[in-house]
Amino acid sequence: MNPGIYNSVLVTGSNRGIGLELVRQLAESATSPSQIFAGCRDPGGPRSKALQDLAQKHSNLITVITLDTTDPVSIKEAFQVVGRKLGDGSLSLLINNAGMNIPGNLQQTGMKEMVDVYTTNVVGPMLVAKEFLPYMQRASALPGSRTGKAGSKPAIINVSTLFSSIEKCHETFSEAPMYPYRTSKAALNMLTRCMAEELKKDGILVTALHPGWVKTDMGGPQAPLTVVDSASGMLRVISSLTSEHSGTLLDWEGKGIPC
Ligand code: NDP
Repeated sequence: MNPGIYNSVLVTGSNRGIGLELVRQLAESATSPSQIFAGCRDPGGPRSKALQDLAQKHSNLITVITLDTTDPVSIKEAFQVVGRKLGDGSLSLLINNAGMNIPGNLQQTGMKEMVDVYTTNVVGPMLVAKEFLPYMQRASALPGSRTGKAGSKPAIINVSTLFSSIEKCHETFSEAPMYPYRTSKAALNMLTRCMAEELKKDGILVTALHPGWVKTDMGGPQAPLTVVDSASGMLRVISSLTSEHSGTLLDWEGKGIPC
């Protein structure tokens, strides 16, 4: 990752999969941020062991925080914890990575599946971004954040997917008939665009990123990309973002995907 103003980062859903690898690479980068907040639902649980081990190894950098992105109380508590650690400091990068998928065609999908997936994939990122915005606005007030140089502006990254693309649906639907997932991530792209418009005045970029098809619990073992390659590509793209990318959907190699 390029040096820049990404000196403090919050990653949601960071106890496994892509989120965990993003935290690992951020911490192990030669130009690592000075603070990494690794959000997860259950920091003390068995599914957070790898994250806790990583945090112990980089105890000067990584703070594990309890953050259930669908629970407004949890989000507010996380905001307080991060605020105490930041002091007068700011948050320069928020990666809304936490997400879920309940695959299903029309007959297999009901209200519960639609609502649960929408809540996690759209409402969660919206609530987290809204809550942490004051810390990001502080980052945009720092000298250097208005230069227009790649990677110089605070950024909110919403982790989306190729399957969110309405234009590409005819190419991808038959392999993945995922009603709740596709519709929620299409809505996440719109959330990205809305926030990009609204936060332009604050100098904060908001970009949706497709991580590729990645070997994780969600992506499955047959996925072609490793978490290592996906996360390093995503971080490279993030560090190259400028205003022209705000509101758009890019893949982990920086190529634009039509929404
Ligand atoms: P995983 O299923 O491996 O991990 C999902 C992560 O999200 C877990 O850490 C999980 O935590 C967390 N999470 C889910 N719900 C919440 C919540 N309410 N609050 C906090 N954390 C939560 O998924 P991936 O790592 O593969 O996916 C990461 C992102 O990438 C997702 O947004 C996904 O949609 C997107 N993506 C993934 C692709 C792939 O091929 N893998 C392709 C395209 C997009 P817990 O352990 O507590 O459940």
